[in-house]
Amino acid sequence: MSVSLVNGSYIIAGLLFILALAGLSKHETSRRGNILGAIGMGVALVFVILGVIFGTQENLGGGVALVTQQAAPAWAIAVIIAALAIGAILGVLKARSVEMTGMPELIALFHSFVGLAAVLVGWVTYFEMAAAGSFDGLHCGELFVGVFIGAVTFTGSIIAYLKLSAKISSKPLMLPAHNVLNLGAIVVFLLLTVLFVLYPEGGLGLLLLVAVTVLALLLGLHLVASIGGGDMPVVISMLNSYSGWAAAASGFTLDNNLLIITGALVGSSGAYLSFIMCKAMNRDFISVIAGGFGSDGAVKGEEKDYGEHREISAAEAADALIHAGSVVITPGYGMAVAQAQNAVADLTAKLRAKGVNVRFGIHPVAGRLPGHMNVLLAEAKVPYDIVLEMDEINDDLADTDIVLVIGANDTVNPAAAEDPGSPIAGMPVLEVWKADQVIVFKRSMATGYAGVQNPLFFKENAAMLFGDAKERVEDIIKAF
Ligand code: NDP
Repeated sequence: MSVSLVNGSYIIAGLLFILALAGLSKHETSRRGNILGAIGMGVALVFVILGVIFGTQENLGGGVALVTQQAAPAWAIAVIIAALAIGAILGVLKARSVEMTGMPELIALFHSFVGLAAVLVGWVTYFEMAAAGSFDGLHCGELFVGVFIGAVTFTGSIIAYLKLSAKISSKPLMLPAHNVLNLGAIVVFLLLTVLFVLYPEGGLGLLLLVAVTVLALLLGLHLVASIGGGDMPVVISMLNSYSGWAAAASGFTLDNNLLIITGALVGSSGAYLSFIMCKAMNRDFISVIAGGFGSDGAVKGEEKDYGEHREISAAEAADALIHAGSVVITPGYGMAVAQAQNAVADLTAKLRAKGVNVRFGIHPVAGRLPGHMNVLLAEAKVPYDIVLEMDEINDDLADTDIVLVIGANDTVNPAAAEDPGSPIAGMPVLEVWKADQVIVFKRSMATGYAGVQNPLFFKENAAMLFGDAKERVEDIIKAF
């Protein structure tokens, strides 16, 4: 197959990926963006596989062709087809069965695969170079960096997966001198890279490759373990970015332009998303990507006695809502767990039919993945024009009669604004406590993802409506 044809297909795939990213930036166009991305990936896969099966050659003119890639032997083609089939079946099964609440951990797991693939590509390339006895300094540098980023991404994503699926605590691990450990690891990595570029051969080269792999695996573990629950959204987009750079590094190692383009797109868009999320959460970008750098890690103000909370029944809530002029609904992760979005949409329609002004206030990190609440509300056909971002609604909350907090906790926690010692201090939140009345839907007095107590629940204007959010919202609709 002609190299020009393969390169042409790579350009088309690259353009489709760029259009996919553009589409994904707005709700209205996100579905189209997703489809364009899938087509781009399809084009890329088909041409990469055809290139492997038939080999590639460059036409030098005059009927002379230079073979740039040999056709793979039959056994290798069989292995590739088997791997594709197994991957496709597992992917389809997982995508069909995953709950919306399980998406973030699935994404973290996918990132770990990209990291692991980058490490394996680096190692295999090293053995190929050793077998051929030809070590090129620049190539060795690329390979070494690829293995480093890949290994950090691999273990970092595994820890993110464990934290997001609540298999380990979301609290930050604060080893003594953790900042020095992180910085020290980077310095050692730089030294190892210089040594590897100078002496890639023999036992020393292999030892250096083992050393950087172990170092990066440990650094990935430590970087993500040091980050607290409240900052996990940034970590996910940061690992997304790392996985892109790991893929780009593999692209350099394998001399594959498409992998470089795709990796760079994922790496830079992930980095930009991390930056936007840091801004939205009032967190220092460098501090978060460096694994909580600059934080002393102390978790203060956790066990304060805030007094008694008040409870309300669904019938009382229904009565209050009917007499309200304005209602703001602030959903959180609990709405996703309860799958309450359709009931909430129904309640919204009923209240609007009764002349109540109902709007939604969405915190940028509500739920467990960026845009989580918007996706659920769109699925339940809540009109876009009443779904407002935190910045758009916060100033109106003081003039609101009732706020319904549906399964949200950290994103409505006044401690972020009022308690400088709180682990979530400084994070902008929905200032729901400023409304006349707040009704909180949750099952218990348990903390949210960041593990921080919420003084909102003890405020005089707040009342708890305990139970599963979907059931309680349906009870209110029945009480109407
Ligand atoms: P939280 O995780 O702070 O709180 C959710 C609340 O929902 C819990 O307190 C829980 O209380 C309640 N809940 C759970 N199940 C139900 C149910 N069936 N019915 C009613 N209530 C229920 O949610 P927020 O959305 O406010 O905050 C998101 C948190 O997740 C932030 O800390 C954010 O940083 C973090 N995060 C966000 C990511 C993102 O990209 N958006 C990614 C990773 C982390 P109870 O158990 O008592 O019912």
